[in-house]
Amino acid sequence: MSAAFARVIIDRAIHRELDYALPETLAERVEIGSRVRVPFREKSALATVVALLGQTDAPGVRPIEAVVGDRPALSPKLLELARWMSAYYCCPIETVARTLLPQVIRRAEVSWKKQLFVRRTRDVDPQEIEALRRRAPRQAELLSAVAKLDAPIAAAELLRKTQLDNAALRGLEKRGFVELREQQVERDPHSEDEFIATTNLVLNAEQAVALQAIEEAVSAPEHSQPLLLHGVTGSGKTEIYLQAIRVATRRGKTAIVLVPEISLTPQTVERFKSRFAEAQDCVAVLHSHLSEGERHDEWQKINSGRARIVIGARSAIFAPLENLGLIVVDEEHENSYKQEDAPRYHARDVAVVRGKMEGAAVVLGSATPSLESYHNATTGKYRLLNLTQRVDACEMPLIRIVDLRLERQKEKIAPIISSKLRDAITARLEKREQTILFLNRRGFSTSLVCSNCGQARECPNCSVALTFHRTAARLTCHLCGHTAAVPKKCPECGQDALIYSGFGTEKVESHVTEIFAHAVVRRMDADTMTRKDAYRETLRAFRSGKIDILVGTQMIAKGLHFPNVTLVGIINADLALHLPDFRAGERTFQLLTQVAGRAGRGETPGEVFVQTYTPFSPSIQFARHHDFAGYFQQELEFRERCDFPPFKHAVLITIRSAHEKRASFSAETLARRLKEALPAEFILGTPAPAPLEKLQGQFRFHILVRGDAIMRLSRLIRETLDKLPFPEDVAVAVDVDPYQLL
Ligand code: ADP
Ligand code: ZN
Repeated sequence: MSAAFARVIIDRAIHRELDYALPETLAERVEIGSRVRVPFREKSALATVVALLGQTDAPGVRPIEAVVGDRPALSPKLLELARWMSAYYCCPIETVARTLLPQVIRRAEVSWKKQLFVRRTRDVDPQEIEALRRRAPRQAELLSAVAKLDAPIAAAELLRKTQLDNAALRGLEKRGFVELREQQVERDPHSEDEFIATTNLVLNAEQAVALQAIEEAVSAPEHSQPLLLHGVTGSGKTEIYLQAIRVATRRGKTAIVLVPEISLTPQTVERFKSRFAEAQDCVAVLHSHLSEGERHDEWQKINSGRARIVIGARSAIFAPLENLGLIVVDEEHENSYKQEDAPRYHARDVAVVRGKMEGAAVVLGSATPSLESYHNATTGKYRLLNLTQRVDACEMPLIRIVDLRLERQKEKIAPIISSKLRDAITARLEKREQTILFLNRRGFSTSLVCSNCGQARECPNCSVALTFHRTAARLTCHLCGHTAAVPKKCPECGQDALIYSGFGTEKVESHVTEIFAHAVVRRMDADTMTRKDAYRETLRAFRSGKIDILVGTQMIAKGLHFPNVTLVGIINADLALHLPDFRAGERTFQLLTQVAGRAGRGETPGEVFVQTYTPFSPSIQFARHHDFAGYFQQELEFRERCDFPPFKHAVLITIRSAHEKRASFSAETLARRLKEALPAEFILGTPAPAPLEKLQGQFRFHILVRGDAIMRLSRLIRETLDKLPFPEDVAVAVDVDPYQLL
């Protein structure tokens, strides 16, 4: 029996599924997951089919107008995943469905690229070319090139190679020597690169154990838990992923590898492309720097089944692969896996759920697993695999703590670079070794304060100080991008008493350039890396030894391999520690461990200097001794005592409005209704101004709810919100398992 109706979710948020009639002409082509165009109100809208029905109770159904694309865009399994996300993350299904498809596919405006190809119609003998030369010398020249072709060639390429023009080509077409035809081509961002095939390395004992466990999980996913691969940087995790993918593809299955956007470098892509170089299409890459056309082509390559391995950032977890056998989430502790807009999902957690739904093995890898995952491993929910040794048997770097309080007493002011760190850099410069200096803050001075009236220059839209950027010679808000001219006098009191204080990477760079006049210093942060290739170029220069000291933000903290770096300086380890966030300690520990992992990957052991005002904080002390288990133990105790994740789920509700009173009033009302709706097992916090009270002109209030039964909690919150009419200018956001508490 063929269905007469289709139930769809419309791309626009209307919080409802609608039924449409299936015209006979389209019935054959519409499946679950198909994209369709339907009449909606006075216009037409794009929608996704979620069910096919024999009948419907809906009154006055209208027919579907058209089918978009030649195959369904979402599989039934991905729709099931969308439903789970909608329930778990307390988010309308259409918002989730929107996230599952890249915009370029959803809008269906971009299609395959067409190019004109030249094909020779018959063999040409030399005399014909000579005969032509007298009448049309340029056509003859082109013909002699065409005579040598053994396959069709893109017209543009032929003309570029021969340096001839279109007129000559059209001339040959007229004379019947060639045929011109439009042909579909792929926009492959890596078409210029050549990948030299690599083969599996011989694994060491620990690696072999890990691969064995993954193999078991791939072949019997129903009996396996997710695997947590805890291995220090350089312990050969990526090599295991590569071999595990090979295991999966040999069994006819497909694989997804998630890496944080920031570590999706050309080197990473090359490693995967080279290992699976036997089929050019085999590996698809998805990340945010693709052009719309490239994204279209990569996605179609996956959806049509040609690509069998997908490597990508967060949203690649939704790659439409069939027969999924393996999902790898590298650097699973990375915060960038959490999406900060609705649906506020965490790609690692979605990976675990998708793996379960599709019968795929899930491998989470990290040198510093998140507390959540490690806790899951200790309670038996995940299986823990350990790699304790670096492949190159390199020593872990020596971590030295510099107490900035003592430095300040010595020198009267707090130095940017302590004398100990300065000596260490000098020694590296003499030995021609390289240094990385890390500071998680951009700009030159982090505030401009009047020493007369005490007023700081604040962003008019956000409750933060403006940062002074010297190169741009402007004050900038790092939250909303607002910029302002630098005043000569204090605009509040009129006195010429403005002083700059606090510092960011731009100042560190200028300071270091001054002290080490002969060293080559470069900075790598969001301000200097605005050009597309800047990142690649700077890394290449650093790798080839043209840069002595690299100053940067977290951009340089992750996943880069530089054997000649023997010194890492962490300019201020306290930046993250003082944020009002229960994860602050965890972040600091991870960051220190990751940054320290940059030092001494070659022959020489590395050294790390950590400058801090809080030398005895546990995250710094445990990181110093590379004591992962010890750190976890004490951090878990703290979280349990305070009912924080991973012991309880948290849901953060943010209420915001340009009108402070309306925001606070709405927050109070919502809290009262939640109090009525939530059983006592849930811990309901009181509404309070957010730590970042004002952001982009909006006043913000928070309500934090905690509890165990997260699905239930999500549902109760959704129901409460649906019943509450908020004023138009008040917006409410629900964040389940939040990572940003500001
Ligand atoms: P991780 O992902 O844990 O940082 P990698 O897989 O990148 O580690 O391994 C670090 C380096 O060691 C890479 O250059 C890799 O090619 C090499 N390597 C990994 N495993 C082996 C092995 N079993 N034998 C030899 N070299 C290896
Ligand atoms: Zn701002």
